[in-house]
Amino acid sequence: MLETICDIMVDAYKRNWITSRDGNVSIRHHDRNHFYITPSGVRKQTLQPDQFKKIGIHGLLWQEEYYSDISAKLKPSGEIPLHFGLQRAMGQHSNDVRVVVHVHPTYCIAAMHAGIDLNTISDSFPELNRYTKVAPNVGDVPPISQALADQCHKSLQLDDYGNIAYDIVGIKGHGVVAIDTSPWRAYEHIERLEHICKIVLASGNY
Ligand SMILES: [Zn+2]
Repeated sequence: MLETICDIMVDAYKRNWITSRDGNVSIRHHDRNHFYITPSGVRKQTLQPDQFKKIGIHGLLWQEEYYSDISAKLKPSGEIPLHFGLQRAMGQHSNDVRVVVHVHPTYCIAAMHAGIDLNTISDSFPELNRYTKVAPNVGDVPPISQALADQCHKSLQLDDYGNIAYDIVGIKGHGVVAIDTSPWRAYEHIERLEHICKIVLASGNY
């Protein structure tokens, strides 16, 4: 699965959804009290599985654990509060893995910049709303902040049991966060929403 995450980051880079050092992904298996997250400051188009950070979950706190010599020299993604909050609470993906993907897709961000709440556009597009539930946008929050994490969790309606009501949430002026049971499934939520945002913006009718 870590190799697959490396593949999706290469794909995201090719689509201009991230610049070299942007974007972050985490993955947790339901029966383990740790998760893996992409490291900070590494070029995502050359990301390798042994560069991931292993993060132990200790109640409300996280702690780095040894995974590889290369990984030990790296820091976890600055967006770890966002990932930790989702990964520590398993809920609806409790019999599977949970993957959290954060990238900066062009048309999703452009649509939010144009004043569109991504939550509302899915009503008109069955190919989006059949497969992907889009949360109300998160407003302006600083990157790599607890506020970004808290607002994303709130907008996704993360509850005390780890359930979320949506598959993807947009952060105004920044990017999106998608969640599912495999890297490609989470990625497809982004792909679907990006495609519809492109269509909506091309139509000029919003
Ligand atoms: Zn970001």
